Amino acid sequence: SKQQIGVVGLAVMGKNLAWNIESRGFSVAVYNRSSEKVDDMLSESEGKQIFGTYSLQEFVDSLESPRKILLMVKAGAATDATINSLLPLLDKGDILIDGGNTFYQDTIRRNKELSEHGVHFIGTGVSGGEEGALTGPSIMPGGQKEAYELVAPIFEKISAKVNGEACSTYIGPDGAGHYVKMVHNGIEYADMQLIAESYFLMKNVLGLSAEDLHEVFAEWNKGELDSYLIEITADIFKKKDAETGKPMVDVILDKAGQKGTGKWTSQSALDLGTPLPIITESVFARFISAIKEERVHASKVLSGPDAVAPQKEQKEVIEAIRRALYMSKIASYAQGFAQMKAASEEYNWDLKFGDIAMIFRGGCIIRAQFLQKIKEAYDREPALTNLMLDEYFKDIVESYQSALREVISLAVQNGVPVPGFSTALAYYDSYRTETLPANLIQAQRDYFGAHTYQRVDKEGTFHTEWMEPKA
Ligand code: NDP
Repeated sequence: SKQQIGVVGLAVMGKNLAWNIESRGFSVAVYNRSSEKVDDMLSESEGKQIFGTYSLQEFVDSLESPRKILLMVKAGAATDATINSLLPLLDKGDILIDGGNTFYQDTIRRNKELSEHGVHFIGTGVSGGEEGALTGPSIMPGGQKEAYELVAPIFEKISAKVNGEACSTYIGPDGAGHYVKMVHNGIEYADMQLIAESYFLMKNVLGLSAEDLHEVFAEWNKGELDSYLIEITADIFKKKDAETGKPMVDVILDKAGQKGTGKWTSQSALDLGTPLPIITESVFARFISAIKEERVHASKVLSGPDAVAPQKEQKEVIEAIRRALYMSKIASYAQGFAQMKAASEEYNWDLKFGDIAMIFRGGCIIRAQFLQKIKEAYDREPALTNLMLDEYFKDIVESYQSALREVISLAVQNGVPVPGFSTALAYYDSYRTETLPANLIQAQRDYFGAHTYQRVDKEGTFHTEWMEPKA
């Protein structure tokens, strides 16, 4: 008898997803370019409905029709190479699923190319890392709706569950799923940056120890900020280095790495012309962290202000930082969701933002209690232009803005960099300002380049001869 689904690519993600699928009662054929990974997996899969294959022909022949094939290979050229080898072996109506961290434009292209051969192509975001892949990731599939319907029962069974609801839903056509996964990763960058700034202030201005910080984050995780990233942050501060006995965070070099998905999100914002300053600033913050040697040199050349002690009790300052963090997080999600709205219009994806918030609630890295609030906001108003205009979020940002202002002031006075907090507040203040100074920019553009401007008092396009004629 034939297998119900096949997995190509048996590195950490493919192997764990295959086991996850098998554990929900499906039979799985597996294939990997180098055969050792197939052997290794089979030796760890005793008693499981996992069927190893050693050629693509054998793999394809082992699958029931229409074939459902999940690719979990390295994103980019490796995915194209794998698709090209598989394509001649497939039949019309077969479904290829790419679960890698693929750039959404590649998914749009592959979806189009494969549909010309009658093969369905689903590009799906999978979040949750190795552990999530095995026990229940958040799944963001995009592609032909009719193909999605055929794989939906599998996706829903293997995904994370929140209150019994699957963290998997149809996102939209072609690249929609990978786009949403990309924005998820961008939001993750911003969440991490904002948490890092909170930590930095409490350490450098309030002098909290790692043990104190563990307590603070553990406490925060019980309230509005309840989330996976806050939870692991609390855990991190508890961990001691086995070699030195120091807190782990204090022996880790302050140079942040990245794989590029945050950068892609910012690049897309620039292409769409939508403001995404918090995520973008978070990408830049990693870049600044990466020039460690330069910073070490500059620290000996350039000075900052003398320390200024906070005017309030430590407990109150910590609460202000918590509020600053939550308000900035709201501004960041407002930007991310506004960008998805712009992309949805640009690419005709008809994204359902409430559904997206819902599948972010479990399995993935940004999972958080507060995503329920985002879902409720879009239930109230599916066409919401900005999350901060929703009644729940409006109340929070209005009452927490004074804390954010206070925290930024304290940071500025002490010379502690808070790029995420600062840009969150600038976004809030820009967004709520009826008249910005862009009138002057328009005047300058018209002055030096005759770029024309519009007027506040009548319709039309205008140009002014700015220079007085020489007498
Ligand atoms: P890798 O990204 O390390 O990819 C390794 C797999 O790709 C192996 O099966 C390898 O085969 C195959 N491969 C590489 N080059 C080629 C090629 N030219 N032709 C055919 N096959 C090739 O594995 P991961 O499991 O870490 O990730 C798989 C995908 O999932 C990636 O797109 C990744 O970005 C994404 N992802 C990863 C997450 C994670 O936490 N790691 C989380 C979410 C998504 P071989 O053994 O023969 O070299």
